[in-house]
Amino acid sequence: MTFNRQRRDDPPPPDVAALKYRRVLLKLSGEMLAGDMKYGISPPVVDRLTDEIKQVHDMGVSLGLVIGGGNIVRGTLASQQGMDRVNADYMGMLATVINALALQDWLERKGTETRVLTAIRMEQLAEPYIRRRALRHLDKGRVVIFAGGTGNPYFSTDSAAVLRGIEMEADVIVKATKVDGVYTADPAKDATATFIPEISFLDALSRELGVMDAAALSLCKENGTPVIVCSLDSPDTVARVVRGERIGTLVHP
Ligand code: UDP
Repeated sequence: MTFNRQRRDDPPPPDVAALKYRRVLLKLSGEMLAGDMKYGISPPVVDRLTDEIKQVHDMGVSLGLVIGGGNIVRGTLASQQGMDRVNADYMGMLATVINALALQDWLERKGTETRVLTAIRMEQLAEPYIRRRALRHLDKGRVVIFAGGTGNPYFSTDSAAVLRGIEMEADVIVKATKVDGVYTADPAKDATATFIPEISFLDALSRELGVMDAAALSLCKENGTPVIVCSLDSPDTVARVVRGERIGTLVHP
């Protein structure tokens, strides 16, 4: 298989210097992979998402992905249905590994070199997460897919995205959701909900706007990495974000 590699040491493609964000951590929810099916992995959706990921990578952006698992198992829901919460959370973390392998498969078939790094060791199928190794993969121009969340129960993949984003020294964390940004209330349930183009971490935390869970937001606040919340419904969204276009909601220190 041949890969279209863009190493950090290589001369950058002509327009890289013009990009606003050169290292990006993209968080995709598991739900996104299910598309209209609500459960599981929808091939046309993964095909479209990986086209977009490849497009951004081909622009010379150093790219890490964190994928959720909500399309397969959500720990809180399973525990409400009677399961032990910790077991349910481990099932959720395993679900993220399934999704990561799907993304890897699609990306590599499109010629983009990737590595899946898991927070829970499962070396037959992926490398264990080691920060220095992840950085090395990014430097070599590989898309790094962080799977298994944080490796700990009682956390979310939003926390994993912020953690890995900070560890990778990402310029921005892009959180892709079903809605096109942050609203004063859930726009699907409240017709008076208004769009918020920009908000500070502190305000987002105190107003409980559901940008991310509080643990993830606090981590962002402490470390100052901006978060952009947007939907990937229209093509080229991530490419436009990294070029500096104002899309979605900017959550800033
Ligand atoms: N999870 C966990 N620890 C982590 C990340 C995830 O226990 O660090 C579990 C948790 O049960 C969660 C599930 O994995 O419900 C799937 O992740 P998440 O709900 O964040 O996925 P998303 O909503 O983004 O699809």
